[in-house]
Amino acid sequence: MALTHPIGMSEPEPPKDGDGRVAPIASGEAGRVTPMMEQYIEIKAANPDCLLFYRMGDFYELFFEDAEIASRALGIMLTKRGKHLGADIPMCGVPVERADEYLHRLIALGHRVAVCEQLEDPAEAKKRGPKSVVRRDVVRLVTPGTLTEDTLLDAKRNNYLLAVARARLSSISEETRFALAWIDISTGEFRITECDRLTLAAEIARLEPSEIIVSDALYSEGDLAPYWRSLAAVTPLTRDVFDAATAERRLTSFFAVATSEAFGALTRLELTAAAACVTYVERTQIGKRPPLSPPLREAASATMAIDQATRGNLELMRTLSGERRGSLLDAIDRTVTAAGSRLLAQRLSAPLTDPAAIAKRLDAVAAFVDDVALRAETRSRLAAAPDLARALARIAVGRAGPRDLAGIRDGILAAAELARALGASKEPPAEIEQAMQSCRRPDGMLAAELSAALAAELPAFKRDGSFVREGYDKTLDELRALRDESRRVIAALQARYAEETGVRILKIRHNNVLGYFVEVTAQYGDRLMAVPLSATFIHRQTLAGQVRFTTAELGELEAKIASAAERALGLELYIFERLAASVIAETEPIKDCAEALARLDVAAALAHLASERDYARPHVDDSLDFVIEGGRHAVVEQALSKDGTPFVANDCDLSPPPPPSPPPQAGEGWMGAGRIWLMTGPNMAGKSTFLRQNALIAILAQMGSFVPAKHAALGVVDRLFSRVGAADDLARGRSTFMVEMVETAAILNQAGARALVILDEIGRGTATFDGLSIAWATVEHLHDVNKCRALFATHFHELTALAARLPRLHNATVKVKEWQGEVVFLHEVTAGAADRSYGIQVAKLAGLPASVIERAKIVLAKLEQEDRAAPKGFEDLPLFAAPYKPSAAMQEAAHDLITALNPDDMSPRDAMEALYRLKEQLAKTPKDS
Ligand code: ADP
Ligand code: MG
Repeated sequence: MALTHPIGMSEPEPPKDGDGRVAPIASGEAGRVTPMMEQYIEIKAANPDCLLFYRMGDFYELFFEDAEIASRALGIMLTKRGKHLGADIPMCGVPVERADEYLHRLIALGHRVAVCEQLEDPAEAKKRGPKSVVRRDVVRLVTPGTLTEDTLLDAKRNNYLLAVARARLSSISEETRFALAWIDISTGEFRITECDRLTLAAEIARLEPSEIIVSDALYSEGDLAPYWRSLAAVTPLTRDVFDAATAERRLTSFFAVATSEAFGALTRLELTAAAACVTYVERTQIGKRPPLSPPLREAASATMAIDQATRGNLELMRTLSGERRGSLLDAIDRTVTAAGSRLLAQRLSAPLTDPAAIAKRLDAVAAFVDDVALRAETRSRLAAAPDLARALARIAVGRAGPRDLAGIRDGILAAAELARALGASKEPPAEIEQAMQSCRRPDGMLAAELSAALAAELPAFKRDGSFVREGYDKTLDELRALRDESRRVIAALQARYAEETGVRILKIRHNNVLGYFVEVTAQYGDRLMAVPLSATFIHRQTLAGQVRFTTAELGELEAKIASAAERALGLELYIFERLAASVIAETEPIKDCAEALARLDVAAALAHLASERDYARPHVDDSLDFVIEGGRHAVVEQALSKDGTPFVANDCDLSPPPPPSPPPQAGEGWMGAGRIWLMTGPNMAGKSTFLRQNALIAILAQMGSFVPAKHAALGVVDRLFSRVGAADDLARGRSTFMVEMVETAAILNQAGARALVILDEIGRGTATFDGLSIAWATVEHLHDVNKCRALFATHFHELTALAARLPRLHNATVKVKEWQGEVVFLHEVTAGAADRSYGIQVAKLAGLPASVIERAKIVLAKLEQEDRAAPKGFEDLPLFAAPYKPSAAMQEAAHDLITALNPDDMSPRDAMEALYRLKEQLAKTPKDS
């Protein structure tokens, strides 16, 4: 398409091509930098780590290397336009209308994007002279952790930005503390916690942030550097962002409060992390202020610690293959709102440890279990409530559309209705009572105003106009009438021109380049260009099949329409801003209400799940009990029920054995410890399922959900570990056995009396005797040192002998039945050890050739015979023969040293010295005496 008269150029210098796109750089002589390129280079230099989306008319253009990266990532055409210092400039562009889609893909690929807009009308620039460039600047950095758009976000997931700050405790200690501050700018949540090096990875795994910010120094520090690089989207930032000295000032000025005491007593380190978050928000949002809540501190001890391997292993949020389907979250999610779904995920990833707080959540679930009608009404009202938090966030940062205003209105109305419905229930539990009050908080007048202002059908963008209801604003109605009237006049004009020219197919059409024009097919072109018609019709453009004209009358009309339409849109945008401002004025109550809706959704959804799947309310207290009757695996049960297969329920009891009688002497404080169940049984019997189901029940109970069991009484679990032997972790480049051992070491070093440990087939990754020895020593350590509740599944039948020596070790097995030479899995857990492994029967089941099975049976019989001929008691194993015991001399020396200490009178330095003396003493005394 070739233009004979280029018109309406938005830029003084570059010519436009036919689709309204602007060529960036006039192909000036080699070596000369055009003023626009100068501007581009300057802006790009200020944002070197971002792809620069440079706004030109209806496109965002990318140049140079950015263009190459984006064209490859997005599969869009790379073109060359103009020259810079003698070389072609690579360029590609995305239409503004579809920018979200492209942003989404770039962000998902780990890029950051700086969005640079035109800050004035090109006409304004032109007034300054023909060579002047439209003012432009970056209005926002788009990074994975700072998104607000629905199209860029997963409705069911929080999108966290996490700041990690670090401090060394003292110069003599290598121990470091970390503060974590995380925000979701799309909902306003803001939390802080502290942790140490050991739990850092677990905390990050819990939060699953989309983006992590750390200081340059921390990013490149020794043993942490590989860790950061193994995570997606870690952004190292200059030191000033993590500067402790200015942290408090930055934080308080963001929230416009006088002192950080307004947020409770935060440590200096916590302040540093929190300040890094707000500074990053300010830098990426550039002048826009998302509605962040003040930072809320989460005590590390308030939630169950679950490390990354355990989360993956138990498939809490996603399966081992990375999908949500098949995870525990997916199996229990019955929420009806996106905010509810997000809250459920949060609770599942951070089960509580305070029995009172757990009971409060369970009370709310119980209320909805009991009142079926109320639950149904609550859920249907909630389903009508849009995502208030995210709509509010977009309004606050100026990225909202008319539908967000409608969302606020509908959310407020649904909440008010819900509060009314809940008000009818008698004696609601505290959780529901509080939620009810929050639902009533937003101003009803606001909803009424929004209802009056917004049209029934709403466009996606405010720039599309026509979202203000007719009759709401008199001036607007007048402008619209004028605009529409003129359109009718155009239709009449077309009819008149057709009549006057005798060209029946004459059309008046519109496009962005020419505005309104008269169009006829090529055969009539000459007629309009000849006297007398040429007096009226002015030729504009000749295309292959059509000829286009303008007329003086059309020009006038166009100006009138344009001004009416423009003023109408301007007025609509003004009304939009006014409405947005009144929404922003209600930020606090609306956020509070949004959170209440999410809590109600979660409570009602868990109740729905409980009655649908027959879950029971767990009893959770401060004991070390762990009694589950008729427990089931939440996910496996649902999967099996789809094929109509029943799940076999099983009991589990890891509670400490009853105190000895008579009880130990007064004052000694008898402290029981939980049991360990050692599970043996053939492959496919259901050991792994049983292990996991008990861990899942503990998680569900502590997150405040009913549980898949007949009855459950649990003492709070403070740490949960779950490991599977020989996990295939080749992707990370470590031998599987190494991984297994590293992870087992973490458990043995960290698990305390309140922990729950699940070990599945540990020791499988190495030669039999190694594996057996390690498994053996691990069980002993868990029993004697960790003293935690544990479930240990193993194929080493030899371990069952340990039960004779370890009083809290309990053998359990999953029953199988042999029937006509076939093995039948009953999936029933009972006390005792498996008598044999049934490996050959399982092999037969798997379809090994009959000849192989027969041969294996013969070999087995022979091996068993030899075994009997030369009995090998377990006392013969080197493990048994050499139990570890400190020597008497060593004990005595240590005893003397320790009794001489008086911890209350010691300075940290004294304590250090005492430790050195103890070590010295140990080195002096021989190990065996
Ligand atoms: P193991 O660890 O002993 O080899 P798994 O726990 O992997 O066995 O279980 C094997 C299969 O048996 C599971 O995939 C499941 O389908 C089925 N299964 C396990 N436990 C039960 C149960 N309690 N009721 C019904 N089916 C079960
Ligand atoms: Mg297994």
